[in-house]
Amino acid sequence: MTLATLIEMVYTLLEMFREIMEAVGEEFSGLAAHRYVGEIIQYHRLQASPGYRRAAEHAYQKLLDFGLEAEILSYPAREGVTFWAQPSFQEWEAREGVLHLLEPEGRKLADYREIKLSLIQRSAPFEGEAEIVLLEDGLEVEEYEGLDLTGKVVLTKGDVRRVRYLAVEKGEAAGIIYDGIKELPGLERHLDNALQYTSFWWYGGERKCFGFVLSPPEGERLRRSIKGGSVAKVRAEVISRFWDGSLEVVSALLPGESDEEVVVVAHLCHPQWSANDNASGSATLLEVARSLHRLTHRGRLKKPNRSIRFLLVPELTGTYAYLAAHEERLPKMIAGLNLDMVGESQELCGSTLVVERLPGSTPAFSGDLLERLLEAVADTGAGGYPSFRYGSTPFSGGSDHIILSDPTVGIPSPLLIQWPDRFYHTSLDTQDKVDPKMLARVGKVAGTYAYFLALAEREEATWLAWEMLTRFKERLVRLVQEERRAGRELSKKVGRLQNQGIAGLRSLRRLADIELKGLESELSSFTRRELKDVPGLRNEEVKPRENEWEEEARRLVPRRLYKGPIGVTPHLRRLGSEEREGWWRLEHRYGNALWYLLPLTLYWADGERTLHEIVDLVEMETGKRAAELLVTYCRTLADLDLLHLLER
Ligand SMILES: [Zn+2]
Repeated sequence: MTLATLIEMVYTLLEMFREIMEAVGEEFSGLAAHRYVGEIIQYHRLQASPGYRRAAEHAYQKLLDFGLEAEILSYPAREGVTFWAQPSFQEWEAREGVLHLLEPEGRKLADYREIKLSLIQRSAPFEGEAEIVLLEDGLEVEEYEGLDLTGKVVLTKGDVRRVRYLAVEKGEAAGIIYDGIKELPGLERHLDNALQYTSFWWYGGERKCFGFVLSPPEGERLRRSIKGGSVAKVRAEVISRFWDGSLEVVSALLPGESDEEVVVVAHLCHPQWSANDNASGSATLLEVARSLHRLTHRGRLKKPNRSIRFLLVPELTGTYAYLAAHEERLPKMIAGLNLDMVGESQELCGSTLVVERLPGSTPAFSGDLLERLLEAVADTGAGGYPSFRYGSTPFSGGSDHIILSDPTVGIPSPLLIQWPDRFYHTSLDTQDKVDPKMLARVGKVAGTYAYFLALAEREEATWLAWEMLTRFKERLVRLVQEERRAGRELSKKVGRLQNQGIAGLRSLRRLADIELKGLESELSSFTRRELKDVPGLRNEEVKPRENEWEEEARRLVPRRLYKGPIGVTPHLRRLGSEEREGWWRLEHRYGNALWYLLPLTLYWADGERTLHEIVDLVEMETGKRAAELLVTYCRTLADLDLLHLLER
């Protein structure tokens, strides 16, 4: 093929892709999706609960009404069951949860029937009176010295999991009152009367308890009177129960010609209301399914080669359950997309619509395609100006795509998300914060993405290859500029980018058998040209970082025993108290960075690389060098028989 014909083809394909986008954009209704949000948020859809099941049945019925093939798949919700290494847990439901202040004055503090978030989710039943003990945050063992908590209730702004362990498990307190709002880096929250979404997770063997949530001003009032010397006493009533039950995944199919699939996932769970998180992603998925079904049935778009699978899941647990039950199908699932928190009104929520890129261990075409589509939608803003904020970010984890994009699963799935969101995980995440126009944009991107990949053959794959090469060049030029100034290990980073660029191009073979030699050599020679004039590159010295953790990492080679990422939290009770304490220190130090540091560690563990090489790779990808964390994490998983650790 000559360059001229190739360029001609690239233009033709660009036109085709714009036509798909136009068709999807016309059919997808942001207002209809906004109405589905209103339907979904009525349900208190805590994963593994009757409320979630009702939401799943509602979504299932809609998919049938739209004309799709759909089913509800059911997985055991009980202790002792695991989906790969992910433990399941029991169903839970509460009928009532009321907290009355009795002393120093009488008033009602919280009522589950008014706001579901008033209760710490999965609270155990309780009826009785208790004195309140004030803890500042209750995270340190020392705070508990000399306190008698037996049968009392602690008031805290600290992490509920930690406080439960120290106050309830060890100190025999009866319950917890939480009055905090978690901070979001980079965003002022100003959420005076909001309640934080707070939950217990029981995996078996823990000392269960109840808990309530107060708004920070209500908590402050209580704190002031206790600090002023008053004794505070409450009466709590929680009517709730746990039982062995099930959790549901709603699956719908838009059938193609072959047995390959493109997978679109959104988590349907979360408390009532939780509109943007994630009724918005679920509603978008439903409207995308309807739109593509209608467009292909009316002949506006032809029937695709591959099928499109739509999955509504309880977050993480449902994705583990579904994939573990369909393990033999994984190689047929060529790419995915995760829709999580997509409907935000940016003015109200302070959010930006971002594509979260694939992890470095799973380079593929799908991340670049999604970025390209988002740019195309932004281009159509009024008068050529983008009418919303958008961008792309490195892999940061925290939702279902961490399972899909794991190399042992192999369904490279970028995430579309609006982040940060001022109302995230609070009682103020309501339908008025969801913008129908935003749903329409996201629907257009998601629908075009899924259909394009379902359709893609030789020509589409070749167009995508050029798109990927262009993006590779941009990234490389940027990297060389930035790192040259910083003078840091440039050749190593460029080498990594180059390898990923080539692996990304090769992933296109999942779509079609295309000729990649020319593209690969262009990628390599472009890299050489870019580096040619960088001074001092050959003499670049990598400064050694040595400490006990680095040394230990050199001796260890982790090999995976299970597919999918593995969290430590569900297995905590199997750890000794010293190990548990050590793990808590690290968790506290790294915070939300664990959302990506831990999955990335396992992604790179191929049974060949030393943990030290993995520490390097994770640092290159995230800027964080975390030898102590990675060594402790792998040692902990090995102790729990969840990872094999070869010592050299
Ligand atoms: Zn959430």
